[in-house]
Amino acid sequence: MGSDSSSNSLPRQFPCLSYWQRTARDFPYLFTNKNRTVPSHIRYVIIGSGISGALTAFELLEAGVKGDDIIILEAREAASGASSRNAGHVRPDAFRGFTGYSKVHGPQQALEIIANERLVLNKINEFVNKHNVPCDFNFTTTFDVCMTEEFTHYEKECMEAFVKAGGDASYIQYYEGHEAKEKTRIPDALAAYEWPAGSINPAKLAQFLLRSVSEKGVQLYTFCAATAVKKNESAPHLWDVQTIQGTVTAEKIIHCTNAHAALLLPQLEPYITPNRAQAHSLIPTPAFAATQILRNTYSLRYSLYHFYSLIQLQGNGTIVLGVSRSNPTLSAQTLASRTSTDDGHYNQEIADDALDKFQQIFPSASSQHAVKGEGLDHSWTGIIAMTPDSVPFVGAIESLPGQYICAGFNGHGMARIFTSAPGVAKLVLGHDWNATGLPQCFQSSRERLTRLSGGNLPSIW
Ligand SMILES: Cc1cc2nc3c(=O)[nH]c(=O)nc-3n(C[C@H](O)[C@H](O)[C@H](O)COP(=O)(O)OP(=O)(O)OC[C@H]3O[C@@H](n4cnc5c(N)ncnc54)[C@H](O)[C@@H]3O)c2cc1C
Repeated sequence: MGSDSSSNSLPRQFPCLSYWQRTARDFPYLFTNKNRTVPSHIRYVIIGSGISGALTAFELLEAGVKGDDIIILEAREAASGASSRNAGHVRPDAFRGFTGYSKVHGPQQALEIIANERLVLNKINEFVNKHNVPCDFNFTTTFDVCMTEEFTHYEKECMEAFVKAGGDASYIQYYEGHEAKEKTRIPDALAAYEWPAGSINPAKLAQFLLRSVSEKGVQLYTFCAATAVKKNESAPHLWDVQTIQGTVTAEKIIHCTNAHAALLLPQLEPYITPNRAQAHSLIPTPAFAATQILRNTYSLRYSLYHFYSLIQLQGNGTIVLGVSRSNPTLSAQTLASRTSTDDGHYNQEIADDALDKFQQIFPSASSQHAVKGEGLDHSWTGIIAMTPDSVPFVGAIESLPGQYICAGFNGHGMARIFTSAPGVAKLVLGHDWNATGLPQCFQSSRERLTRLSGGNLPSIW
């Protein structure tokens, strides 16, 4: 059933707990329906209980589907994938990705990808306020901090290209020299851009969604991995979802399985690949405690692919430090381990590097004089789903009528799911792609896969 570094595998049976999960062990649906046999028939099966799956269920209910018609299958405890293990940033890309997206998708789609991320931030803000979601959401601004000349130059070029193509930069502030250092509190900052973004306890957001749909009749089956989806022999328009707790026959299947999508959709194996990401929680020393707490979030950038993300929770002062997928200072062995789907362990070299860099960037945060209890609190990993064209797969799987996908967020799910999951829910209910309002390039289509395969797409698609 796939190797430990393939999306053609089930999630690891015994993952570690993230900082966020450790703050939310009282969730009553954490182990709900564990060991319970699935029903023999249901209308909708959502596979995966992360924010994609939970929000898809929420949106189906909002559109009038009855809770009794939906089940959610989850391989482990509720929302135990990336959604509860991330770095807590709801951080839209404001312009930096424009150049890269343009090369793959053209300038118009690149502008739409960026506009969509901004929309997601506003949607999360509205959602949290409307439903009073207890998830420590902090709507603030973020700094993209240039730590090298090379990256300063790169960002400048991206901004110029973005504006030239008609991108809206009116809400982005730029600082350089002394002003950049003062604004960011970073003595070595060369330049910085600032725009609206947020931080959140993502596990609590996922749990809120799951609680809400469960209270309306949706049954969540935890520790109930789906192992195969096959055509029903007597009714070929129906699908049999085989699980470790029996087989359920359904009309519509929505795959919200993140980096594990290819276990049930093996044709996707080359196009959705897992990548292990790591994050750390820190208890601040006095330089970042009390009135000195950081009010903004950060991306601390040495190059396009080497950076650190930083948020500080306004509720309790905990700092969450994320790391980039690539980092030229790490050993080849550590870099190789990042293709693993093992989220039961973390990598010490990555943790040491993150901590060193944090203290280098913010010398006042030095833990040299830290008392016991300050400094590194916890380290954890989670699996993100990469796609070759950096955008998710959302929509119908044309060759498998009745099956849909919402996965492949390239480590940006918090800035993409809140439009993608509502989009997939609309498609499931029969609306056409235009109704989703999503960038066209997100659509899961045979044409896109043909392009990605270089024209060598197997006929099964
Ligand atoms: C360390 C880390 C830091 C990150 N930081 C950020 C960040 O700061 N900002 C940001 O925007 N994004 C970040 N991300 C990415 C973000 O967390 C993801 O894009 C997002 O959570 C994906 O949500 P999802 O619901 O699609 O997937 P998940 O939350 O992974 O949910 C998928 C679920 O499906 C279940 N599943 C899989 N296969 C099966 C099966 N066969 N049967 C049953 N269940 C199955 C899994 O157990 C899992 O619970 C980070 C990710 C990690 C790991």
